[in-house]
Amino acid sequence: MSDKSPIMGGCQCGALRHALPAAPTGGGICHCSMCQKATGGPFAAFAGVPAEAFAWTKGTPGTFKSSHMGRRDFCRDCGTSIGFRGAGGARVTVHIGTLDEPDKVKVERQIGTEGRLHWVGHLADLPGKTTQEDSGADYFAKVDASRAKID
Ligand SMILES: [Zn+2]
Ligand SMILES: [Zn+2]
Repeated sequence: MSDKSPIMGGCQCGALRHALPAAPTGGGICHCSMCQKATGGPFAAFAGVPAEAFAWTKGTPGTFKSSHMGRRDFCRDCGTSIGFRGAGGARVTVHIGTLDEPDKVKVERQIGTEGRLHWVGHLADLPGKTTQEDSGADYFAKVDASRAKID
């Protein structure tokens, strides 16, 4: 990440937006059971910035105290898990999937490996399709994510 423009992100419904003026560092994957529950996925992919380099630019998150070590912020409207703040508050860790350009963040380590699901190491060996290939172009054309919010 060489340019200096802020890295933007947010939740799935758009009620929460955040900005990282500094490039996140320490990118990694956590396989621990708390991250599995928090994300609903097999692991959390994250990177962090100093707390002063993180700002909510839209909305106010819900906060869940997941342990004595920290808190997890999420969207109260759509449930997207945004990230983690340690008890000291010096650093904010953001789930890479909440960033508008998640592929720009380097992932360089794994932690919580005691919780790693047995198939995670073989992901690259599984057959793969794009969403459009899997669902068909007709179905894909009808999906309107902007109307997904249920009132
Ligand atoms: Zn949301
Ligand atoms: Zn974890």
